[in-house]
Amino acid sequence: MSGFDLAIAETWDGDTVLFALPHVPDDAPEPIREGIARRRITAIQGRCPCGAGMVLPNRAARRAAKRSGRMVHMTVEHEDDCPAVDDVLLAAIQEWKR
Ligand SMILES: [Zn+2]
Repeated sequence: MSGFDLAIAETWDGDTVLFALPHVPDDAPEPIREGIARRRITAIQGRCPCGAGMVLPNRAARRAAKRSGRMVHMTVEHEDDCPAVDDVLLAAIQEWKR
């Protein structure tokens, strides 16, 4: 992998959000490039081309995390055939990096 772009944003209710967006490696096979590109699109636009949206934990969970100094993670439930699905993308990367 060739690195990350980091960006900080603020939610409408004042929480801070850190985005870690991996670079799309020029030399990766197409399914990996597409999967990573879709993850970047989802983080920036809030929705993947497969239709999945980014889900922020509810306000109570975010407040509890803030009080305890923990980080919360956004989730995205991609369609099964989307190249950005965790298991599919990670398996493709592991195969490529052998
Ligand atoms: Zn998707």
